[in-house]
Amino acid sequence: MPLYQYEPFKTPCKLCGKGFELTQKISDPELSECPKCGQAIHRSSPSTINTPHYSKPLSISDAKASGFTVLKKTSKGEYEKQ
Ligand SMILES: [Zn+2]
Repeated sequence: MPLYQYEPFKTPCKLCGKGFELTQKISDPELSECPKCGQAIHRSSPSTINTPHYSKPLSISDAKASGFTVLKKTSKGEYEKQ
């Protein structure tokens, strides 16, 4: 089950501070109120899922190693296989 991070809209909350974590089933509905203070809350992204890491752009050699056909633009404006 994923661990969700909930944050109150007004922070810091006297009771829950900057929010709290709650383990929920994926099928469970998102909470809209803080169970401690009743304030409106929203769910931020699950803390178990990291923000996506964007890998650096593939270099030509990486692309070739991955099986991509790398096309090179020739001086005539045409593309040819390297
Ligand atoms: Zn609260």
